[in-house]
Amino acid sequence: MLRVDLRELTRGGGAVQTQGELKQDDPALEGVDISLREPVTVTGRLQSIGEGRFYWQGTARTAVQGECRRCLTPVATALQLEIGALFTQDPEALDDPDSYPVAPEATEIDVTTAVREELLLAAPRFVECREDCKGICPQCGKDLNAGPCGCAPAADARWQPLKALKDMLRSN
Ligand SMILES: [Zn+2]
Ligand SMILES: [Zn+2]
Repeated sequence: MLRVDLRELTRGGGAVQTQGELKQDDPALEGVDISLREPVTVTGRLQSIGEGRFYWQGTARTAVQGECRRCLTPVATALQLEIGALFTQDPEALDDPDSYPVAPEATEIDVTTAVREELLLAAPRFVECREDCKGICPQCGKDLNAGPCGCAPAADARWQPLKALKDMLRSN
């Protein structure tokens, strides 16, 4: 459950545990540019920290499907996000980028927005299937982890413009 009933918060003495799950096809995850292999598991604690101000501290865990940037093999990486978000009914507190508005008459707080924001920022960085991945041959496309391919070593790209110039001079 990612929504917290504010009456429950009062009953809970100002703090309440949150626990829930966002399925991969949850509309809240629309536009999040990472492919999730698993639902996002969310745990946390919402705390009342003053008049109309609530602090949520949570953890979102999932597994991300990516591909090795060298050899393009599919790789799953665990993703764990520590999230701190301020939910506030005070419009002046909204300057803080980690704060989210709560309508003055709201009876519940939905922490999904904070999870979504973090996931948007957590777009997959470069992943590698293993530290010493050899990648694929740029000429024949063979996966070099399986062995050398027999292509001649690629000409040093720095000399290409010079070679082009020479060819041009020669053809004149
Ligand atoms: Zn690789
Ligand atoms: Zn090759």
